[in-house]
Amino acid sequence: MLYRLACVATASFVLACGPDPAARITADGLRADAAALSADSMQGRGTGTAGGDRAAAYIARRFEEIGLAPAAGDSYLLPFELTGMKKDAAASSLTMRGPGGALPLRNDETITYWSTAGKDVVDLRNVPIVFVGYGVEAPEYGWDDFKGADVRGKVLLFLNNDPPVEENGQALFGGAARTYYGRWPYKFEQAAKHGAAGAIVIHTTASASYPFSVVGNTGSRENWDRSYQLDLLAWMDSTTSERIAAAMGTTLTGLFDLAAQRSFRPRDTRYRLTAHIKTAVRTIQTQNVAGVLRGSDAALADQYVVFTGHYDHLGMNPSAGGVDTIFNGAWDNAVGVAAIMSTAEAFVATKPRRSIMFVAVTAEEAGTLGSAAFVEHPPVPLKQIVADFNVDMPQIFGVTRDVAAIGLETNTIGDTFRAVVEEHGLRAAGDPDPTAGHFYRSDQVSFAKVGIPALYLQAGTDYVEPPAVDPKAYEEAHYHQVSDEIGSAWNLLGLERDMRIVFETALRVANADAQPRWTPGNEFEEEWKVLYGKQ
Ligand SMILES: [Zn+2]
Repeated sequence: MLYRLACVATASFVLACGPDPAARITADGLRADAAALSADSMQGRGTGTAGGDRAAAYIARRFEEIGLAPAAGDSYLLPFELTGMKKDAAASSLTMRGPGGALPLRNDETITYWSTAGKDVVDLRNVPIVFVGYGVEAPEYGWDDFKGADVRGKVLLFLNNDPPVEENGQALFGGAARTYYGRWPYKFEQAAKHGAAGAIVIHTTASASYPFSVVGNTGSRENWDRSYQLDLLAWMDSTTSERIAAAMGTTLTGLFDLAAQRSFRPRDTRYRLTAHIKTAVRTIQTQNVAGVLRGSDAALADQYVVFTGHYDHLGMNPSAGGVDTIFNGAWDNAVGVAAIMSTAEAFVATKPRRSIMFVAVTAEEAGTLGSAAFVEHPPVPLKQIVADFNVDMPQIFGVTRDVAAIGLETNTIGDTFRAVVEEHGLRAAGDPDPTAGHFYRSDQVSFAKVGIPALYLQAGTDYVEPPAVDPKAYEEAHYHQVSDEIGSAWNLLGLERDMRIVFETALRVANADAQPRWTPGNEFEEEWKVLYGKQ
């Protein structure tokens, strides 16, 4: 195809004219990489599988072809270990006894439990269960549910979601939008941080945004973990939780009310937990893949703008009934990795002041563990990473008048994105569904948690031409199914346009004098100050 001619302002503000680098991002290029990564030969790119390793090798080869330098010495691969833990349900047991005797528990129906201690056998005997409300410690809101209580060795009972608190007519936390404090991984992290033996999260459909069945068999799956080691983790249904509330002289609604008070303190439930958990533990080797375009400005080249997209998916399901046993993950997220490769092709035709790092991460489907590992052992000092652009399940149904990104209102990358979108005569849109807490459900969260400002590209919804299929219905039919494959419903012209906008945004971020920052009062602002030594 023909490259458009364009002029771009370089670092020294001299206009350089030539083929528009953004025009290197094309629907055809996106489709080719997405097709290669979602091919049956990649066997669903399961973390720690041969298919996953094959996908990593393909990405490394493409990064080299594009002209990126290896991020780790002479290698594009950033290896790390993951521990897989699968409970032996038949050999495990759990009971809870209180004033009314033992609770009637049914495994994976009223409670699902597991261990991430990494031990073959965990035994807990008559351990007190302490209700800790939402279990939130948020200095920026002056909120502390623990208030110095010693909960070491106890089992902590948490409510899901953020405290729904209004003060002086203002919603604390994110109001209806879910902050990280409202996500279940935060609850488990809190339990580990406080030295608890375990954590039980009370499930209600309202506080989780999905029914119990979505989490109901978590304890029977293989769980991968890096961020919290606990003897016991569990989800408990609302009916069982009512029994505990009753023993505390209240109801589940009463517990929610209690926990919404600033004065809340942890309190004993009068229930004691006994558990014997047998777990098969194994360690696997896996890897993220990263390539670098070195920046051109001597003063800024040691700062990095990072692109992330997860290349792992669900692997194979040999027990699936039909002929197809491969989770191709074309939308989730072969096409997102294709998108960051295309962006790399555009970037190598420019001379950004800051360096750009392209990272295809693994183990997202296991709980954003690949990006967590990247942030824990980054190939450059963490404080040199100033921004993250994440792409996960982007637009595949055509061109829209809106361009959407989660995090739009939370930091200055969002401001730059909005400016670029509007210069193109389009509308910038934020999170299409804030209550679900999507910002905390893909890899950008690993960056945000340590203070790095991040933006997460979404699919716009205001289509110029009616899409070939209803996007919502398509998602319901194919999300996390073996049928997530490139098909006739796909039209990548929309993603081509979206990624050109993302590229333009990232180029401006890479060339700006100031590094990105969170909007004042944001939940990640404190971490930002600590990471970069700012006031
Ligand atoms: Zn997924």
